[in-house]
Amino acid sequence: MIAFAKTGRGAGEAGLVDRSDPHPGPGEVCIRISACGICGSDLHVFRADPGYEWVNPPVVLGHECAGTVAKAGPGVTRFRPGDRVVPISVQGCLQCRDCRAGRTNRCPQRRVMGLSHDGAMAEFAIVREEYLLPVSEELPLETAALAEPLSVAVHAVARARLGPGDVAVVSGPGPIGLFCALVAQKWGAEVVLTGVERDEPLRLETARRHGLRTVNVERSPLRESIGRRPNRWIEASGSTAALDDAFELLIPGGQLVVVGLYPTAWELPLNRAVRDEVTVAFSYGSTYRDYEIALQLLGTGMVDADTLVARYPLRQAARAFADLTDGSIVKALLVP
Ligand SMILES: [Zn+2]
Ligand SMILES: [Zn+2]
Repeated sequence: MIAFAKTGRGAGEAGLVDRSDPHPGPGEVCIRISACGICGSDLHVFRADPGYEWVNPPVVLGHECAGTVAKAGPGVTRFRPGDRVVPISVQGCLQCRDCRAGRTNRCPQRRVMGLSHDGAMAEFAIVREEYLLPVSEELPLETAALAEPLSVAVHAVARARLGPGDVAVVSGPGPIGLFCALVAQKWGAEVVLTGVERDEPLRLETARRHGLRTVNVERSPLRESIGRRPNRWIEASGSTAALDDAFELLIPGGQLVVVGLYPTAWELPLNRAVRDEVTVAFSYGSTYRDYEIALQLLGTGMVDADTLVARYPLRQAARAFADLTDGSIVKALLVP
């Protein structure tokens, strides 16, 4: 089969590779991949950005995928060939205290599909059956491939404990920020999604087409355009300037949830945080339960995959990475 792999440690050392078709071992399932999204983390690994040194090439990238079961290994009981499935990307040991409580994203031994081991930018991928969720017949598998980034948003919004009556700012209109804003709005909050000038033509426009209120903070100061000050803030831009904005605008008792990852350190405005009793929570990845909710939300048509996604044949993966890097598309789906 062909696959798209990070082949060396250097920036851009990645490309199509030939692999033998994988065979599922005990408890494992071989999935025929229908579509695999390119995540921001895939871009970081592709470019060899700091913070991803733990990724050991050669590794087939890809963790935002959906497909059908091609083969079930010995001992697999929940799935059989032909079943439509989505795998969980952050995979815990399933034995530790966190895993047993359903918090597999915090497992000290967790592994990430397509980063720790071979992933889904390929015709086939191997996944343990415990990490698979069934996908309903009505949901197109290309849409189901968005369950991973949507589940990350479901997790972050849950960390914000947000609901009707809350005023929430989501900073960063990339796919995770867009999804956080959509989920927060669905849960009843009044939501503003913020971006900067370069987000205006594509990302903010895509958000508005999904019915979201947006603010370009380089055109209009957020404080004036927002109306009421927020009591919730979800930071998904990866920019420390947005963390400063959050501390400036959150009302006392407000809550900040950080789901971005940052290239630089940042100084917490400690005294402001203390005096206003600001809560800061962090959110990483997602769990089985978050995927269940994400798949249900996708079934409601909340995400318009056609306006969000650009499809590329797997063989043109390098072009998809280039188009994402120059910002000409919001989300790429690779189709084997
Ligand atoms: Zn992802
Ligand atoms: Zn564990």
